[in-house]
Amino acid sequence: DVIPVRRALISVSDKAGLIDLADALVAAGVEIVSTGSTAATIRAAGHEVTDVSTVTGFPESLDGRVKTLHPAVHAGILADLRLEAHEDQLKDLSIAAFELVVVNLYPFVETVQSGAAPADVIEQIDIGGPALVRASAKNHANVAIVVDPEDYPEIIAAVGTGGTTLRQRQKLASLAFEHTAGYDLSVSAWFTENVYDQWADDTETLAEDILEAFDAVTGADEDIDIPFFPDALVIEATRSAVLRYGENAHQSAALYAGEGGQGIAQALQLHGKEMSYNNYVDADAAVRAAFDFDQPAVAIIKHANPCGIAVAAGKAPDAIASAHRRAHDCDPVSAFGGVIAANRTVTLGMAETVSQIFTEVLVAPGFEPAAFELLRAKKNIRLLELPADYRRSSLELRQISGGLLVQESDTFEEFSSAGWTLVAGPEADEATRADLEFAWKACRSVKSNAILLARGGASVGVGMGQVNRVDSCHLAVLRAGDRAAGSVAASDAFFPFADGLQVLLDAGVTAVVQPGGSVRDEEVIAAAALAGVTMYFTGERHFFH
Ligand code: 5GP
Repeated sequence: DVIPVRRALISVSDKAGLIDLADALVAAGVEIVSTGSTAATIRAAGHEVTDVSTVTGFPESLDGRVKTLHPAVHAGILADLRLEAHEDQLKDLSIAAFELVVVNLYPFVETVQSGAAPADVIEQIDIGGPALVRASAKNHANVAIVVDPEDYPEIIAAVGTGGTTLRQRQKLASLAFEHTAGYDLSVSAWFTENVYDQWADDTETLAEDILEAFDAVTGADEDIDIPFFPDALVIEATRSAVLRYGENAHQSAALYAGEGGQGIAQALQLHGKEMSYNNYVDADAAVRAAFDFDQPAVAIIKHANPCGIAVAAGKAPDAIASAHRRAHDCDPVSAFGGVIAANRTVTLGMAETVSQIFTEVLVAPGFEPAAFELLRAKKNIRLLELPADYRRSSLELRQISGGLLVQESDTFEEFSSAGWTLVAGPEADEATRADLEFAWKACRSVKSNAILLARGGASVGVGMGQVNRVDSCHLAVLRAGDRAAGSVAASDAFFPFADGLQVLLDAGVTAVVQPGGSVRDEEVIAAAALAGVTMYFTGERHFFH
């Protein structure tokens, strides 16, 4: 197990003892292969050295980042010459083996201690060196690896007496792994201190700022949990407002309006009592629903769900008033105490109807003066004017315990039903198709599982928030009453079985739109076909939770 040294690779940052080692190797007839400044140092002492670039046929490049990282080097180190196959392969590849590798790594710790800038510290993370060290140590059956000039004398002695012993190589390999492990530990410690901690500081300061703002507006001095806010998502609060309380009376709450936002948080309150936390949540849902339509539309929201959505009837002279009346008619019982959003200026006609119904909030892009005069006489209604360029945020955030979920907002931008696939019944006529498009869009504002029945551009029955689709169907049909027959239906996600659809078919629904995609689509399609009911697949789901 004594291995004579014929070829050595030397690549050292610390040149201590290098010349003595080179002298001994050359005297013993060993070929020395070396990297840049190591080769130069040995050459300056009058010895012949093979440049590593000659071995690799590749220049040392990228400011030294790539010098020995090459198969011609690593195959020469990793070949296990106890195996004939390895020996043959090296021969075929014209690669010569190394029996000795001498490496010490870039002075990372010293660079950090010198107070160097991060970019310079990073440049001192040795990549090729550790690869050489680890490869050699792994293959200690064939290669001796030296990482410390203190071990040069032992190697010099071994070379002079016929070679290194297995015992020596094992011990050197163990030291070598210790060396690279320690090196990586220093690198990781630096990262923790200088990169991670820095980043942790940033987020902490941010959280503290938010906490302080919260305290300032609420007068609370108790610690509250601040969710983790990734930098990119931080909205600069330009206006924060204490709310009387949160979702319930025992919860304190505040509103932060994002700088540059054009949403409900920036709406101008023109009249009425202070907006509550729930008012904001519902107003947001209402506006989201109403603004899904290009036509004049109104949505009435209760507990974040629509109890009525409608667009204006065909030739209604007062379009927005028509939309409101039709939305209200969907479920007058639930509309009591609702939050209403209109996507057009509120007219006197609409104000006249609204003023007769107890309403928490009415939000719109504007109010005709007469409409405003009429509504402001009601002290309980809150009137909100949306920013002229109302726009939803492109990202949605939701807090979960210990973190934050982020997603792109679900939008209907460039909506078209042209891509829908007819899967059952006859192709819908123009009016039915318009109703299906309305139902599909309106259904998106309903919490899942969502089933929405519509007729003439108005919802007539909404089944929301159930934990199975059959119950949502029952609920929608129940709410629609005798209006279910002849209506069209939309489902926010596919029917997993035919049973939910059957409820709708039995109620007399004439056309259905749904995403499709269930493993039982065939059963569902067959049920619709049997009833002679038109069904389209959209291929796109709109869960809303
Ligand atoms: P020299 O001073 O001879 O130009 O370079 C010696 C240093 O380069 C040694 O510390 C060695 O660990 C390192 N080294 C050897 N090969 C490579 C490589 O391919 N990439 C990098 N980044 N360092 C290497």
